[in-house]
Amino acid sequence: MARPIVAIVGRPNVGKSTLFNRIVGGRVAIVEGVPGVTRDRLYQDADWNGRKFTLVDTGGLDYREDGQIISNVRKQAELAISEADVVLFVVDAREGPTGTDGDVAAILRRTDKPVILAANKVEEFHKPNELYEFYRLGLGDPLPVSAAQGMNTGELLDEIVLNLPAAEDDEEEEEITKIAVIGRPNVGKSSLVNALLGEERVIVSDIPGTTRDAIDTFINRNDKQYLIIDTAGIRRRSKIGIATEKYSVIRSLRAIDRSDVVLMLIDAVEKLTEQDKKIAGYAHEKGRASIIVVNKWDLVEKDDRTSNRYIEDLRSGLGFMQYAPVMFVSALTGQRVHRVLELVDYVAEQQNMRVSTGNLNDLIKEATMHNPTPQDKGRKLKIFYGTQGGVKPPTFLLFVNEPELMHFSYLRYLENQLRSAYGFEGTPIKIYLRKR
Ligand code: GDP
Ligand code: GDP
Repeated sequence: MARPIVAIVGRPNVGKSTLFNRIVGGRVAIVEGVPGVTRDRLYQDADWNGRKFTLVDTGGLDYREDGQIISNVRKQAELAISEADVVLFVVDAREGPTGTDGDVAAILRRTDKPVILAANKVEEFHKPNELYEFYRLGLGDPLPVSAAQGMNTGELLDEIVLNLPAAEDDEEEEEITKIAVIGRPNVGKSSLVNALLGEERVIVSDIPGTTRDAIDTFINRNDKQYLIIDTAGIRRRSKIGIATEKYSVIRSLRAIDRSDVVLMLIDAVEKLTEQDKKIAGYAHEKGRASIIVVNKWDLVEKDDRTSNRYIEDLRSGLGFMQYAPVMFVSALTGQRVHRVLELVDYVAEQQNMRVSTGNLNDLIKEATMHNPTPQDKGRKLKIFYGTQGGVKPPTFLLFVNEPELMHFSYLRYLENQLRSAYGFEGTPIKIYLRKR
């Protein structure tokens, strides 16, 4: 089961993002002080008393101009109803219910999903009269909170958790696969995302001037949830004149930080650039799984060896990323686009794979028998045993006598042995040494 989704809905300025940050704990660091650009995350994993959920701030893209806001808030409410398990409707207790609140409430009353009405900016609990008016919204008791002061937010979280769908075994809990779509301008990122979406499930608005560093979109497919982090959208939309290449790189890096799987788009006609290499290197260092997607394949004149030649080029250009599968698509014609998410599932599985300690140590024994460990001045590296410390990326700890005796080439050899036994396709592997 995927993590349940709790969506925050409400007019601009009622305190949605303050509440969001209060619940997920702490502000997300600002990378660069560009005015007008807020880089709070649109969604974040949260938990309360051990119940995990994903909090989505559907108001993250409010466009502050009359008329636009209203339809946008309505859209948020509709999306929240269709996508979320629990809707958190935030109103401003100081202002009292407005017409827009009434419109949103009318939409929310139509759903069977639990709706929690939070009346924010209540710092003085001895004045309960303020809240009576909110009963008119027909959504039950308003819960007074102060997002800014953190008052009653514990009660609010209790209420949220109480309304989440019944938890399944945590072991089996499947997370949303987060996919970053990366590549230079014009490589076809938006086209690919649109082709993947098929239907509109965008949890954000299309209004010019929106201020996010990536467009986040949830998709459901075969009961699985994906989050697509698309760095393309903003550039075209924003009119705030920060179209620097530097900024687009920062945006890519941030998208990679938040992802599980990176779709590295390469233009079939223009091929690999230095910037592609740098960004791919970052994904590798960060331990993200990667798929190299050669787009605009429709523009290439092909014979029976064309794709192999491309793969060779890519392999030599991205030496460190031999593990990444390469696929050839056309976002324009839709060729092989349907295979993208299949491959995402596959590499996500690979990056979550665990090797038992028994099997790992059999492999190490075998490997060191075929190819003795390095030695230096009469001292020989001894690997006492190994264990897998984690997944995403698969991380192995080797307990050894003298870590300095290890050679890069021997590590590479062990990695290759692991890969030929278990695959780990699409994902980097980390191997760390511990002196024992
Ligand atoms: P959003 O547009 O709904 O995301 O609202 P923000 O979270 O940006 O908050 C709008 C304004 O209300 C900001 O100036 C906040 O400091 C203020 N605010 C948010 N929560 C509270 C609160 O609990 N009490 C008071 N007094 N002000 C708040
Ligand atoms: P982005 O800047 O990376 O989001 O790129 P876009 O998706 O906006 O695409 C840039 C241009 O390339 C547009 O004119 C698209 O129509 C075109 N394009 C995108 N994908 C393909 C493709 O697979 N084949 C062809 N021939 N053109 C494409």
